[in-house]
Amino acid sequence: MEGVDRMDRMSIVAGNWKMNLGPEGAARLVQALLPGLLPVNGVERVLCPPAISLDRIAPLLRGTPVRLGAQQMHWEESGAFTGEISPNMVMELAEYVIIGHSERRGMFGETDETVRKRVHAALAHGLIPIVCVGETAAENEAGETARVVERQVRLGLDGVEAAKAPGIVLAYEPVWAIGTGKAATPEGANAVLADVVRPALAALFGDTAARSIRIQYGGSVTGENAAAFFAMPEIDGALVGGASLKPGDFTKIVAAAQR
Ligand code: PEP
Repeated sequence: MEGVDRMDRMSIVAGNWKMNLGPEGAARLVQALLPGLLPVNGVERVLCPPAISLDRIAPLLRGTPVRLGAQQMHWEESGAFTGEISPNMVMELAEYVIIGHSERRGMFGETDETVRKRVHAALAHGLIPIVCVGETAAENEAGETARVVERQVRLGLDGVEAAKAPGIVLAYEPVWAIGTGKAATPEGANAVLADVVRPALAALFGDTAARSIRIQYGGSVTGENAAAFFAMPEIDGALVGGASLKPGDFTKIVAAAQR
């Protein structure tokens, strides 16, 4: 596969705070994170607090290079969808949105079809979707990783125009590695990206567009193991859960992502 050189893909580290920190706690964490995040160059830094905290944090990040993301959103603009937030609401405050996180797939009925709808809605509203894919422990043990991950990429991104593909971030997050302290090996994660994810993207969008899409690894990334992941040729960054709530750890991960 030829085209975009890896060095042309700016690395991206996003912190998924999950269901932690309301507005005041989130603001305190931002104040603790900024001194470590601001001096870093060449890494897109994205914070994804709970939706209720976005409005409190947005002004704290304005004028800084640190970006804001939502953890999920509905695909409709408005209407009778109690508890949901819409793309145009997210747009008022954030630039990124995580879509298809395994916790949404596993606990809240997210499917490849709803992922696809959300991806289209995000792109139509100028938001950058961070699209999560990854196999469960049972699928991994059954040797199903390639089949599952290829399907999630193909169906989740179905119908996206190749011209819009560079505006997507993909996160490969093996479910068994999320929040368990048992990260994949850097070589194992890189192999899934090289053998499954990048070819699936190429089948959808062509080689050049596929090479331009940034792919994160996610699953128990820490300040200690991050550099080994970023040394892999296909890994362009990380989606970080638990460690993104710890300023020392998160800034270490972001610093390690510099090329
Ligand atoms: C995540 O929430 O996407 C994640 C990767 O969590 P953790 O880093 O805690 O494994």
